[in-house]
Amino acid sequence: MTNDNPRSISHILKNMLRPGTPDPPSPPPAEGETNVAGQALPQFTDIEISKIEMLSVRQEVGRLSNYPPPEYWDDWIEWDAKSWPKKVARRYTLVPTVCFNCESACGLLAYVDKNSLEIKKFEGNPAHPGSRGRNCAKGPATHNQIYDPERILYPLKRVGERGEGKWKRITWEEALSEIGGKMRESRLKRRDGIMYHVGRPGEDHFTNRVIQAWGVDGHNSHTNICSSGARMGLFITGAFDRPSPDHTNARTILLISSHLETGHYFNPHAQRIIEGKMKGAKLITFDPRLSNTASMSDVWLPTWPGSEASVLLAIANYLIANNLYDKEFVRRWVNWKDTLQAVKDGRLQPFYQALREEIEESEPTFELFDRLLKDLYADFSFDRAAEESQVPVERIRETAEYVANCDGKLATHTWRSASIGNLGGWQIARALFLLNILTGSVGTPGGTSANSWNKFVPKPFDSPPPGTAWNELHLPHEWPFAFFEMSFLLPHFLEEGRGEIDVYFTRVYNPMWINPDGFMWLKALRDEEKIKCHVALTPTWNESAWFADYVLPMGLAGERHDLMSQETHSGQWIAYRQPVRRVAMERLGRPVEFTYQANPGEVWEENEWWIQLSATMDPDGELGIRQHFESPDRPGEIITNDEYYKWIFENSVPGLPEAAAAEGLEPLAYMKKYGAFEVTRENYQPYEKAIAKDGLQADEHGRLLDDGKAVGVLIDGEAKTGVNTPSRKFEFFSPTLYEWGWTERDYTIPWPLKSHVHPDNIDRAQGEMLLLPNFRLPTLIHTRSANAKWLYEISHKNPVWIHPQDAARLGVDTGDLIRVETEIGYFVDKVWVTEGIKPGVIAMSHHLGRWRLQEGMGINPGMCNVATLEDDGEGMHKLNIISGARSWKTFDPDTSRIWWEEVGVHQNLTHAVHPDPVSGAHCWLQKAVSVRKAGPDEKYGDVWVDTNRSMAVYREWVAMTRSAVDYSPDGLRRPFWLKRPLKPVKEAYKLPDEPFGRPKTDKLVTAD
Ligand code: SF4
Repeated sequence: MTNDNPRSISHILKNMLRPGTPDPPSPPPAEGETNVAGQALPQFTDIEISKIEMLSVRQEVGRLSNYPPPEYWDDWIEWDAKSWPKKVARRYTLVPTVCFNCESACGLLAYVDKNSLEIKKFEGNPAHPGSRGRNCAKGPATHNQIYDPERILYPLKRVGERGEGKWKRITWEEALSEIGGKMRESRLKRRDGIMYHVGRPGEDHFTNRVIQAWGVDGHNSHTNICSSGARMGLFITGAFDRPSPDHTNARTILLISSHLETGHYFNPHAQRIIEGKMKGAKLITFDPRLSNTASMSDVWLPTWPGSEASVLLAIANYLIANNLYDKEFVRRWVNWKDTLQAVKDGRLQPFYQALREEIEESEPTFELFDRLLKDLYADFSFDRAAEESQVPVERIRETAEYVANCDGKLATHTWRSASIGNLGGWQIARALFLLNILTGSVGTPGGTSANSWNKFVPKPFDSPPPGTAWNELHLPHEWPFAFFEMSFLLPHFLEEGRGEIDVYFTRVYNPMWINPDGFMWLKALRDEEKIKCHVALTPTWNESAWFADYVLPMGLAGERHDLMSQETHSGQWIAYRQPVRRVAMERLGRPVEFTYQANPGEVWEENEWWIQLSATMDPDGELGIRQHFESPDRPGEIITNDEYYKWIFENSVPGLPEAAAAEGLEPLAYMKKYGAFEVTRENYQPYEKAIAKDGLQADEHGRLLDDGKAVGVLIDGEAKTGVNTPSRKFEFFSPTLYEWGWTERDYTIPWPLKSHVHPDNIDRAQGEMLLLPNFRLPTLIHTRSANAKWLYEISHKNPVWIHPQDAARLGVDTGDLIRVETEIGYFVDKVWVTEGIKPGVIAMSHHLGRWRLQEGMGINPGMCNVATLEDDGEGMHKLNIISGARSWKTFDPDTSRIWWEEVGVHQNLTHAVHPDPVSGAHCWLQKAVSVRKAGPDEKYGDVWVDTNRSMAVYREWVAMTRSAVDYSPDGLRRPFWLKRPLKPVKEAYKLPDEPFGRPKTDKLVTAD
């Protein structure tokens, strides 16, 4: 069977979507049994197969898993299940790749039929050190996504009005030349006109290198609606922005996350949490919702959202007051001398006046610091924590005892959940990590490491120089600590006239759907003056792509090249994502020049697209861009994927060349064969490593300087690496926050901040409630699951969770409609009455409620509503559901078997934006100003929003910021040591002469 056969999977996929061309006649239906694509099954003769010993992996919990041994991966034979009881052999080539359905980067093994090149299934890759052969439900569902009958198979260009739904198919050459031309034009004019807005990166730094090569400040990310809160709290303490808990070896595991780490590293963490539990670890979960993880926990604390820091500091107080903390670790590794100095010079006030005077008059000693800690946190009693969190005091005490008994093995994790939910959520992450510090569980076996200690990102062959520009639409002056770009406010910034965009790329990102205040996004995406050209790089249709000028189909897992690493445990590894049909073709002796020649239709991959686009943008090298895309092996020629990764694997990954040589392979061939490599098995306490370099000078703070830059620290007279904070130690008191205007104790040390949904701000007596809108289901993937039928069959509704007490008060029962009114609008959804949610709180999963505007094109009919959008031109917007999900006929018989209609409600449209004044994170929790039974005219899925209110609430939150214009101590836009993707040169950090909305102030000083 060849790819030209009308019944071949490739032929079918190439012809599923042909905008602008008439549909070809359908091939006659296959007779007898068919595969998923409706093809006749390939016929094989019975063959004799000898028994093969499977590769057995014994897991720590005692289970044994079997996998095909790698020496058979090139030619693996299995009986065709559908032909049973007849033994029909199918021959596969097994190609390792990497899942792309969350950021965990688990290994997958694709079973590619050697005869038809159909991908039969995805299973786990046993050679992958992070996932160790295991996946969650979303990994194998990659198969659904690849064979999704509604997927976009060709580059499309808008031919009607934006959002009208009229498209024509174009070639990749046309897309390159038209978009590359617009980028060149913009780059010749300015360096802040091109914006790459990424939802799911799914790779480590390939695209960042590309943007840097363009010489623009063009990186924008979704981080501010995801993890900025946690990142800020961790970074200000230890100069790392993600925690890496060693769950397997922990004695106590404390999660402020949701459902077995669905907040981030789901499968790799979940399997290690279970390992830890099997070895006796105690599991503690803070969550107002009874998630599956909470139900499996030794202690569940259904805290009132925003009270978590108070509970954590009560535990800290218990450790401190009872001398149960690791004083030796704190003495060595915390900036306690700086903290005492802050007391001396009045930057930090103890409560007890005599202690302040004693510190002022004495030499700094650790004993004084110990007393200061006892003074600062003395009021954080268990009773106070119980009252604020509305959790029984015994559970808080029990948690404190488990933490105290952790023996340096406290694994903690927070990602989304409370840290991104609340005003001041960053202090929750900071308070949580304080427990690691107090128990000495930092980077220890069973403790919590920094992401950078457990993630390995190799250097490429060439690194373009840092940029020289600063895009005000990314990081405006009001949020000097933002982690990272203030991306969810882009439409509000555009509305205010802060700028406009020449070429706007959305990449695996659906901003109108996933961000709060989606009607503001709709307005921005429709405005061709503000967003002049919108290019959606996406593997699947989404609501925002509908409003693009170009829709470019990009590969899913198994259809693209990427390199990834994640901090899944105490080691370091890299994983190599590959387009599996391309690899299969190459193994069969059929070389492929570009990946779109091997993928369904003309689905491409970003790597090759970016390389070709960059070369198109700068054909003669005049802009200095092209040189970064020339092959290191063939001077003057454009680089290939193989050349790019070959260089990395040969030069940048310690141990890989040797491991490959031991198998008689080149490093690239090794990675193509196994798809992953373990760089370091364990990397504990790297801050304790001695500095190899001699002759370094110590400054008055004990920091070791190399050419004026702190590279280490003296600890008890020994030169240690330390961490990347200014002090090279973990910073309890933050001089940086103080210097930049956040001078109160509430900010300079770990302290609870009053959330916008604090009980004082929710008048329950008047019927107000707290809407918790940001928990994930473990089977769905933000907005990208609507092309995965298996996942949607499991989860397709997002009812409002409501406690029986509240349900009785409102007179509703499971299945009834309620109307939930937020600060800017309302939605109507069904309720699920359950004791699994705290009274006073209602909760909704954030994945569901997808919609499309047109029958016959867009998101799968079985996974979305058909909706109408209306607005009155005065700021009043409506979304109404015309019809729900339905079955439909395609080559896939399963699409005729859709049995559900309800696919959820799009609640995010009704969420006001809440940018935290410090971290910049969108504080997801919403005040439901009224919750009541829906009226007779209110229908399931109705959404109404007033964008005048949207802007008013936005301005209320902007008013809470402390702008760099007023507080920068050095004339820079943000502290230079803070992380920022694609950090430009220091010159670019200088505040502009006339910052948006502000006159030039006398306070500005020139940066050195
Ligand atoms: S946790 Fe699941 S979705 Fe995430 S990478 Fe692993 S298999 Fe894929």
